[in-house]
Amino acid sequence: MIKPDAVEKGFIGPILEKITAAGFKIIAMKYTRLSRRDAKEFYAIHKDRPFFGELVDFMTRGPIVSAILEKDNAVEDFRALIGATNPAEAAEGTIRRLFAIDIAENAIHGSDSDANAAIEGAFHFSGREIYS
Ligand code: UDP
Ligand code: MG
Repeated sequence: MIKPDAVEKGFIGPILEKITAAGFKIIAMKYTRLSRRDAKEFYAIHKDRPFFGELVDFMTRGPIVSAILEKDNAVEDFRALIGATNPAEAAEGTIRRLFAIDIAENAIHGSDSDANAAIEGAFHFSGREIYS
């Protein structure tokens, strides 16, 4: 997902350019807005963390771009491309370093395992919205 902060700042195009230039193939994509229920479900693993309320507020305040990306070693390579959760700690040239401002509003989400990528892909897309 390209998160609401990056969408608001006009970074959809530059971020997609970085993603495709890094060799990821877009096999599903949509521009949508999460309901509070959606955001709570998507981030359910963090429901007991102190930042959960703010995370739900942030993720629902405007539209996002969701996508499913295909590549060899996609999860690991995408996490490397986006950089650390806190942009201040993200490596030079990573998407979060380039386009994000803080640990909450960090521009982009990437799945952390193949299993979660499958769950999160199914959260955003039906089978006939995926073109692999
Ligand atoms: N987050 C936050 N405060 C924190 C840690 C995380 O607001 O101290 C937000 C941030 O938007 C982050 C998301 O919660 O991307 C999910 O956190 P996670 O630790 O899973 O980081 P990620 O996998 O996105 O790098
Ligand atoms: Mg995570």
